[in-house]
Amino acid sequence: MGIEFASTRRGSAPAGIDDALVAGLAPDGGLYVPGRFPRLRLAAPPATLADTATAVLEPWFEGSRLRDRLPAMCARAFAFDAPLRPLRGKGDWLLELFHGPTAAFKDYAARFLAEALAGLRDADGTATPTTTTIVVATSGDTGAAVAAAFHRRPGFNVAILYPDGGVSPRQAHGLGCWGDNVHAFRVAGTFDDCQRMVKQALGDAALRREVPLAAANSISLGRLLPQAAYYAHAALRFQAAHAGASLNFIVPTGNLGNACAALVARRMGLPIGEIRLATNANDVLPRYFAGEAYTPRASRATLANAMDVGAPSNFERLRHWYGDDAALREEIGALSVDDATIRDTIRAAPSRHGVIPCPHTATGLHLLERLRDDGDTRPWAVVATAHPAKFEGIVEPLLGHAVEPPPALAEALARTASAEPLAIDYAALRERLVELSAGWR
Ligand SMILES: *Cc1c(COP(=O)(O)O)cnc(C)c1O
Repeated sequence: MGIEFASTRRGSAPAGIDDALVAGLAPDGGLYVPGRFPRLRLAAPPATLADTATAVLEPWFEGSRLRDRLPAMCARAFAFDAPLRPLRGKGDWLLELFHGPTAAFKDYAARFLAEALAGLRDADGTATPTTTTIVVATSGDTGAAVAAAFHRRPGFNVAILYPDGGVSPRQAHGLGCWGDNVHAFRVAGTFDDCQRMVKQALGDAALRREVPLAAANSISLGRLLPQAAYYAHAALRFQAAHAGASLNFIVPTGNLGNACAALVARRMGLPIGEIRLATNANDVLPRYFAGEAYTPRASRATLANAMDVGAPSNFERLRHWYGDDAALREEIGALSVDDATIRDTIRAAPSRHGVIPCPHTATGLHLLERLRDDGDTRPWAVVATAHPAKFEGIVEPLLGHAVEPPPALAEALARTASAEPLAIDYAALRERLVELSAGWR
């Protein structure tokens, strides 16, 4: 019997994995949560990340139309490694998640989501297949990962909305360099404005009859579940190499998607110890975990822009899993790291840790430094969420030298990029989505 997914708001019927994947959000506006967590028992760590991903995802896809396709889907989605690198300090590790085409961890989940939606489309095999437009608001990295994952994929178009001037020049390039079935809008507003327009489109039933739409944000199970794979893979290999020890993780956090995936892996019985969150100056989570009431607020701009979140969208899922605040606070800790500390951490990282971090990863490294200063001797892995070359405007002046982009990023940067300007005007977006879908098809 396959696992059923209920809504955190308990207002809609439970769904199977395939329906939950396509829907993204539950009909009552809640987030899908599994009725139970399958336990994974593996005698030895699988050989590759793709093999681990298959093993982690299989129990979730019992009864799915995708069940038999999973190994091939994972081989394609997890085609690049997530190495666990030792840092200078004893017991200090870096889980590098930036070796995909857009140099941030979101590549893994976006590629799996694309495989899953395309696989369901093939499995359905309707006579007159429609084309689905993925609409996505991004503060930089999600949009690029989704664009790369769906680029030239038959049956899918991508419309990206990003805040004009609110992403780094290289991030902007990574959003606008695709062409073909991908269209980028640079919106004269903030990320929240982009998000609001996307939500309005997804809630516009008349539009959706004309232009079939799908979402790709981090609350989707199609993004959450695959992210458990790299935690599982790192923890299993660590355990095998260190006499059965569990590995603890520090996760740079914005919307809590990546951190919730670490929790999923731990609930599946993988050898994961503690999970700690590092945020930037947007400190809603650290305040909550310190005992204050949960108080979402408007986000403010920081050096770690992909974590500029004032109302973490997966919080509802986290709270549902623990039932009460005390239990949740017992399990997870969080630290807010301001921009000055991010700068200091980046400057000192090459000599102190032997790596160059991106501003997001730097928040995690700082949390690690605090733990060590307090005498914690356990093994900790800091999750490196993006490659530093993606944020060269911040990192290079601090270090006083250039940071080479990895090959895939360099390739994207060599292409020309363009984005269409768009006002904060839902009617204008709607009109363009209709026009584009006619042209795309
Ligand atoms: C998206 C992102 C984050 C935050 O991840 P969440 O899943 O939203 O918590 C951190 N760092 C980078 C580089 C990102 O792109």
